[in-house]
Amino acid sequence: MDCLPLHTLQTVFGFHAFRPFQEEIINRLMAGDDSFVLMPTGGGKSLCYQIPALHRHGVAIVVSPLISLMKDQVDALRENGVAAAAYNSSLGERDSRQLLARLHAGELDLLYVAPERLMNDSFLERLREIPVALFAIDEAHCVSQWGHDFRPEYVALGRLRGIFPGIPLIALTATADHQTRNDIMERLGLADAQVYITGFDRPNIRYTVMEKRKPFQQLQEFLGTRPDEAGIVYALSRKRVEEVASKLRELGIEAAPYHAGLADRERSRVQEAFLRDDIRVVVATVAFGMGIDKPNVRFVVHYDLPKNIESYYQETGRAGRDGLPAEALLLFGYGDIPISRSLIESGTNPEQVRIELHKLSAMIGFAEAGSCRRGALLGYFGQRLEEPCGNCDLCLDPPDSFDATEEARKALSCVYRVGQRFGAGHVIDVLRGSKNERIRQLGHDRLSTYGIGAHLAAEAWGSIIRQLIHRGYLQQDLANFSVLKLTPSALPLLRGEERLVLAKPRIKVAEAKKEPRR
Ligand code: ADP
Ligand code: ZN
Repeated sequence: MDCLPLHTLQTVFGFHAFRPFQEEIINRLMAGDDSFVLMPTGGGKSLCYQIPALHRHGVAIVVSPLISLMKDQVDALRENGVAAAAYNSSLGERDSRQLLARLHAGELDLLYVAPERLMNDSFLERLREIPVALFAIDEAHCVSQWGHDFRPEYVALGRLRGIFPGIPLIALTATADHQTRNDIMERLGLADAQVYITGFDRPNIRYTVMEKRKPFQQLQEFLGTRPDEAGIVYALSRKRVEEVASKLRELGIEAAPYHAGLADRERSRVQEAFLRDDIRVVVATVAFGMGIDKPNVRFVVHYDLPKNIESYYQETGRAGRDGLPAEALLLFGYGDIPISRSLIESGTNPEQVRIELHKLSAMIGFAEAGSCRRGALLGYFGQRLEEPCGNCDLCLDPPDSFDATEEARKALSCVYRVGQRFGAGHVIDVLRGSKNERIRQLGHDRLSTYGIGAHLAAEAWGSIIRQLIHRGYLQQDLANFSVLKLTPSALPLLRGEERLVLAKPRIKVAEAKKEPRR
């Protein structure tokens, strides 16, 4: 093909212009280089490899985990006149043979294939005999245990880079925090890949976090100021969902509960009524939202703390699809933390538990952020925001700051005194002079930092320590029970050469109780 990608975009796909970064990603792939693309769902990842597939010689091999995803893509491509096909377990023997014949005859522009089919030795042998334009690995987070949808069959894809050294490879995903990203790139052999992270910002959504005091009353006030708008209220348990929905109904608000415990029929009824604007508020567990495409959802309220930033982003992202102003309100109470924590800790896979606890603490960090929420949110996905957004609670009403030098020093020296071998819970117990057995056995009641922080509640210390992590004074060794360690930036602070000003948490922390906890 002897024309520009833009021309293909217009003539084959019928779009006027590229979205940010699409063209760069396409050019890089066309030049034969590897890329890693992190872009939210609906961002336009597919074109990034579909257009190079049409421009480069040979067939583009696209790895996709689900037959249904493959089918949608192949159907859409065929409608645009592109020679695309899917090779997966839904094909009978004859169809498979026919497909392979077309592959060898060079008749295909794109072939979608399941990972276990692709990595089958005889299939790899075939691919060596024909020109391959590129490899695209969709839903690339499936290769990582850090991701939320690990698939063992993806692991074998790590061999691709080595087997086909001259063919460009592009990995794409909509969800990956820092660790997942590194893990994906390492596993897929993408050391030289260019990383593109883009499209996460939803500028029309205003993010607000409020201290959770009397959540129902807070919700009622929130709804009262926008009587004509529709939205979703997320709560953690089915029981809570039922409770909140029925209280709203008592107030005369058209609300309905939605959770996995309801009959299918009831769930689709609620979904449809919400789409038709017959229901104003759906109170739901995380079960609600998949495949909901209601453009005029004006608000999403989190009644409880989401379990990680990925979920929070996805759930709040259901607001304002029409591009008009929308609200995301999170009610955040420290009381929610132990509940979320114990839910996670009841898991059976220790590796998974550790990862999820880490993600929860990032979520808490977001709720405690002292500066622009949008900056924190985009930062989590690795996208930089150049300036504070001007459309979140912290930008609109900046918090006071306070001198946290003394507290920070106490916390850092305590981390040091316990030998940088313990997690936040233990450090806090030592700071607060807790009388538990473990502390006595370890002799930590004889440390100079024992009890120097008794004036603050455990929650307050938790918040300070989390902020120290976010600000880069402490790091958590995730491979090792979230043990806290000092970073080099901690030294000037410890030596008294530097002062630390933290944003005063908007969330008020309970006064220290007389008795240390536990
Ligand atoms: P993703 O794979 O990132 O979830 P898709 O590739 O399915 O997203 O794209 C989402 C939607 O955006 C599709 O309907 C696609 O046709 C559309 N789209 C992608 N790029 C453009 C563009 N440059 N202009 C207009 N629409 C686009
Ligand atoms: Zn902001």
